[in-house]
Amino acid sequence: MHVTAIIAAGGSGRRLGASVPKQLLDVGGRTLLQRSIDAFRTHPAIGDVIVAVPADLLAPPPPWLDGVRGVRLVAGGERRQDSVANAFASVAENVEIVLVHDAARPFVTSDVISRAIHGAIAHGAAIVALPVSDTVKRVAFEGTAGGDGVIVETLPREQIFLAQTPQAFRREVLGAAIAAGRSAEAATDEATLAERAGHRVYVVAGDPENLKITTAADLTRARGRAPSVAGAAGRVGVGYDLHRLVAGRPLVLGGVIVPSDRGALGHSDADVICHAVTDAILGAATAGDIGQHYPDTDPRWKGASSVALLQEVVGLVRGRGLAIENVDVVVILERPKIGPHRDAIRSRLADALGIDAGRVSVKGKTNEGVDAVGRGEAIAAHAVALLTRA
Ligand code: MG
Repeated sequence: MHVTAIIAAGGSGRRLGASVPKQLLDVGGRTLLQRSIDAFRTHPAIGDVIVAVPADLLAPPPPWLDGVRGVRLVAGGERRQDSVANAFASVAENVEIVLVHDAARPFVTSDVISRAIHGAIAHGAAIVALPVSDTVKRVAFEGTAGGDGVIVETLPREQIFLAQTPQAFRREVLGAAIAAGRSAEAATDEATLAERAGHRVYVVAGDPENLKITTAADLTRARGRAPSVAGAAGRVGVGYDLHRLVAGRPLVLGGVIVPSDRGALGHSDADVICHAVTDAILGAATAGDIGQHYPDTDPRWKGASSVALLQEVVGLVRGRGLAIENVDVVVILERPKIGPHRDAIRSRLADALGIDAGRVSVKGKTNEGVDAVGRGEAIAAHAVALLTRA
């Protein structure tokens, strides 16, 4: 049985007040769309995943979406049903079951997907849905819009279900639904179109955790419960920095002023250790780099304390549910020797990182007189950081 999943991510909705479409918002280090794609891509029954995205995302696609095995991108359409129709047009010939999922439901589980597939195999069309526990009223609004509604009737709640996705169909059933949707008014799901096309659509058990992210409150809730970006093994990041050494500047290393006849030249205090560690932490969190967060063209960072910037970045990754496990630094300069200042630097860095100095290592090297660093014209630092789930 060949099964394909279509992910409807064609909307460019910015209702959540963000600068990017909803499906590209970050939840726990991955976008809503990535989470939805991964759920289907890793399901053992599913072959292809076809994602309908806004046309402007296709040229070029973001790197995390480009060339992912088993994932194909198509341009979305005006309405949801148009996006799904575009995706359906590229479903392979031998596929018998097609699922449609909404990218705004990032927490769909493998079990939920399996139930939808089995429902479609048994009945031709099945959606995952939730029973309601509240009493359900049908309400009418009189007079001006936005006024109070009046109850018309109380519906038998055992007959009421809340539709989720995925919705699964035998290929010909979804084909008929899409045909019915072409000239019809906008529908909010494919089951509606299949019903209109005269097909019986069955309901299988949904999952209360299979949230749809619609409002800012949903997004906050989703971020609170999303598994953090760190897996069990944690995440490692690497950082590197180099600055020229010139007379008349203090040499600031890890927030400590090291006595020297020359110091590092830079827009900020040019602290190579802090800059390398900051980039290592940002890298481990896949949160960009120091240049993106603190561009050296921005007058706010002129003469800035790099320890303060480091502390800000530590706050940023903590906010993503990550903790710093340890940091290791190699600083390369000809003179002065780092050794006598090592413990002061470790302790200052540990304070900035909010961890024990026992988790911070600083090692000094020379460049053996080779290259600019060896001639004493520059100082460089390498750092690695390991982040774990807080
Ligand atoms: Mg730098």
